[in-house]
Amino acid sequence: MIGDNQLHKLTDLFAGMIGHRPTACVVTFGCQMNARDSEKLRGVLDDAGFKLTDNEKADFVIYNTCTVRENANTRVYGRLGQLKNYKKKNPHMILAVCGCMIQEPGAAQIIRKKLPFVDLVFGTFNLYEFPALMKEVLGKKLAGQEEPVIDVWEKESSGEADSLPSKRTYAFKAGVNIMYGCNNFCSYCIVPYVRGRERSRNKQDILNEINRLTQDGVREVMLLGQNVNSYGKTLDEKVSFAELLESIAVECDLNRIRFMTSHPKDLSDELIDVMSRYDSICNHLHLPVQSGSNKILQRMNRHYTREAYFELVEKLRGAIPDISLTTDIMVGFPGESREDIEDTIDLIRQVGFDNAFTFIYSKRTGTPAASMPDQIDPQTASGWFDQVLEAVHETAAARCARFTGTDQAVLVEDRNRHRGGWLTGRTQHNLLVHFEGPADLIGTCVPVEITESKGFYLIGRRV
Ligand code: SF4
Repeated sequence: MIGDNQLHKLTDLFAGMIGHRPTACVVTFGCQMNARDSEKLRGVLDDAGFKLTDNEKADFVIYNTCTVRENANTRVYGRLGQLKNYKKKNPHMILAVCGCMIQEPGAAQIIRKKLPFVDLVFGTFNLYEFPALMKEVLGKKLAGQEEPVIDVWEKESSGEADSLPSKRTYAFKAGVNIMYGCNNFCSYCIVPYVRGRERSRNKQDILNEINRLTQDGVREVMLLGQNVNSYGKTLDEKVSFAELLESIAVECDLNRIRFMTSHPKDLSDELIDVMSRYDSICNHLHLPVQSGSNKILQRMNRHYTREAYFELVEKLRGAIPDISLTTDIMVGFPGESREDIEDTIDLIRQVGFDNAFTFIYSKRTGTPAASMPDQIDPQTASGWFDQVLEAVHETAAARCARFTGTDQAVLVEDRNRHRGGWLTGRTQHNLLVHFEGPADLIGTCVPVEITESKGFYLIGRRV
């Protein structure tokens, strides 16, 4: 609770003006970092007295945008355009746009010029100011002023949104930011430009937040950062990610600890050792490889080779034999050849990933890769993509099958949307399991016998 009386008062006045308790909808595009930011936006709105909804025809609508792919911006502009007529008939509606897209040079000006009905524009660097920005925009609505509130900062500041209230998606699991930004400058990625340079949160603040979450019933946390393995480097008192993880495992009453994303170049022996020593640290690691070709890895500015990646996998499997490994793979990077794709397919088969998010490279203006020669034509990239996907399916199916006939602890997440009376949960290894059971199991960890493997997910029976 931020307990902001002025914000509550303004919300009450707004409710009086429109004749009902105002509703609010936050639409999230993109990654887990954005999803976490949206929980904070929802938390502030809820705390202020808004009724949260998934309906975009709400009284306060926020688009929390992503800019990883060029066409993501076009999609957001298109969806905003669709709300134009609705807003004309409902002029009290407050429409806000925030997130990574707004940090791109010129994005706020485009919105101002082409979408003048947007009331509030702010970026990732001043998310923590959302309560103050809400006050400003509500004040303008109440005064009948149409001038939008536009507040976009060019650089990160010392303020972060950690102290904002959160409206979590699940009661029993939560994401916790441990750091912001990225220093790596992979040649295809816009993140360092729109999320700023790496900033780590103080270790004790992270522990305090997790302890508050566990008191609130949370059993699983996902530690979030663009590159969690370099956690602590920007702190005055140096602390490594392995040390942070060990402290969480020892000091916090959690059943499961997950983290993402790990950059292979920063995965330390110390971290592998900590992962192997604590049952609460999940037997799953998402380790994006991106390509199996040294030539392409170098062009991507990834700072590791396929040989170094193999070495890491060997160390991980040596220390944690049953670990599940998932990855990201990009296909169609500028300059990529048939041989490079074969190297990638070979790496997939040799490692035997449990799953992989496979993407076709998408040119991102503002990144070095966008101006590299030898861009790959979409048809060629699409053909390669299918072959890479086939290799991923093969290894994932083989890996998934190892669970058939075993008993697995499943943290039940939800009802199964496609099968009445069935539930859906996840194993330690982050695999989805569907099984029959009553809804009151949601949020608990139950033993399930795995009866069938479906390649990327499992079917089971309650033990
Ligand atoms: S590690 Fe590379 S891909 Fe990941 S956020 Fe940083 S620059 Fe982007």
